[in-house]
Amino acid sequence: MGTINIIGSKAPVQVPKIICVGRNYREHASEMKAEVPSDPVLFLKPPTAIVHSGENIVRPLFSKEMHHEVELVVALGSGGKDIHPAKTWGLIAGYAVGLDMTLRDVQGVAKQKGLPWAIAKGFDTSAPVSDFLPAASAGPRPIFDIECSVNGTVRQRVSTSAMIFELAYILHYISTIFTLEAGDLIFTGTPEGVGPVRPGDTIEAKLSGFASTRHSIVSAAPSR
Ligand code: MG
Repeated sequence: MGTINIIGSKAPVQVPKIICVGRNYREHASEMKAEVPSDPVLFLKPPTAIVHSGENIVRPLFSKEMHHEVELVVALGSGGKDIHPAKTWGLIAGYAVGLDMTLRDVQGVAKQKGLPWAIAKGFDTSAPVSDFLPAASAGPRPIFDIECSVNGTVRQRVSTSAMIFELAYILHYISTIFTLEAGDLIFTGTPEGVGPVRPGDTIEAKLSGFASTRHSIVSAAPSR
């Protein structure tokens, strides 16, 4: 937990923090009956939420409705504060596909009561990520297809060119609020097609032809 792998490099990279963008695709904002925001909606996940391909995603006992949100994930190779959008591309170490696993029932109650999303979005195993394609191999300003399937059926598929806020602006905007550091991950938002997964399901997410991550959904064991 708390590390990622970059394809072709031997040592895992420690992740200081995970910053996530909400509502970055129009059709997803409308399926959630949410407004398209004028600035990116941000929230955090703890690095302990990371799981890698082959590890289980665990639905906590206090939730009955866990959703998948497939997203392009960016890993930073260096950081800084108040970075100009044009300079943010130079910070990126690699690209992966990730799943922003969300306890939709818990989030619904939090939204209703005006409470934070920390539990709904940051619980253990809520941040599955594939290995990272090195930025040098991806080329400048890359566009990817990201896809999520459950039990072999495609549920979400989109080109990252459909994002409302482009990557350079997202990184700039985040750097005006949080100091960015090497190893930080940015989850860049999900397209339409989010939906539930249940214990016994298998979920797979793919980044174009480059990387994928595959997980079984299980229920937490009751505590003794
Ligand atoms: Mg999301």
